[in-house]
Amino acid sequence: MPRSIGVVVSEHIAWGIVEGHTLVGAISSYPLEGSGADLLHAMPADELVKRIADEIKALAEGQPLDAIGVAFPGIVRNGGIEESPNLNQLKGVPMELMMRAALSERNVPCERVCMSNDADVVAAGIAARHGKLDQLVRVWMLGNGIGFGRYPAADGVWEGGHIVVTLDPNEKFCGCGGRGHLEGIMGHRAMRLRFLDMEPEEVFALAKGAEEPRCAEFVLLWHRALAAATSSSIHMSGPGKFYISGLNARFVNVGLLNRCVQEMVKMSSLQGYVFEIVPKSDELGVVGAVVNALRG
Ligand SMILES: [Zn+2]
Repeated sequence: MPRSIGVVVSEHIAWGIVEGHTLVGAISSYPLEGSGADLLHAMPADELVKRIADEIKALAEGQPLDAIGVAFPGIVRNGGIEESPNLNQLKGVPMELMMRAALSERNVPCERVCMSNDADVVAAGIAARHGKLDQLVRVWMLGNGIGFGRYPAADGVWEGGHIVVTLDPNEKFCGCGGRGHLEGIMGHRAMRLRFLDMEPEEVFALAKGAEEPRCAEFVLLWHRALAAATSSSIHMSGPGKFYISGLNARFVNVGLLNRCVQEMVKMSSLQGYVFEIVPKSDELGVVGAVVNALRG
């Protein structure tokens, strides 16, 4: 079976070989877990491209490749990175052009080279794993920022993490600087800014008791924010399955989330929505990057 290579750049870079829609062998990553996550933040775009191209050449071992899919955080459109708040050096970079040039310098021929958003490839990976390649799959990625992934990939901006979920002008913790954004309530960084005296883990643990009412209030707000953004997506694109992944998917109470959405979505034809938590894994993204590349 022809081989493809998937690459996902997020807090680290993950690579893997994919045959069809299945990962073959292990995922390798750079930098290794726990060793200098800031390395990527300091790496200029051309160096990042070289490193990825070197690794693709090594993985290909001189064999022909069916497709190469590479995913980055931010707004990725028409092969270019328009915006990347978490890897600022990538803003405005014509990534597909640079990647194709670097691959051709290394004699790695491949027609299908595709750049995607890092949350979109998780949605594509879930679609492939669950046999939903003919359906709409949406995924919330709950981490430092909030990502919204969508399969099938469609042209557009899709910055779902920055959906406005409150008109309260005091809601100002979003990494982009915008007021009232989903990420400003749910993002890990935003939670640390809101509760300067405790970590998000403590906030969620204390919310279960009666001593810290502000924690319980916040946990309800956190779920209502995700419900509001999901309701907006349902009202725009219709009902269906929403997956939730990323580091902070561990904080989600699906029952509470469902009750919150029920208050917000009332039209009977829009009621068929379901939430499912999916453990964070590099494999989903690596496979999804290839799925998007194969679909062109
Ligand atoms: Zn924002």
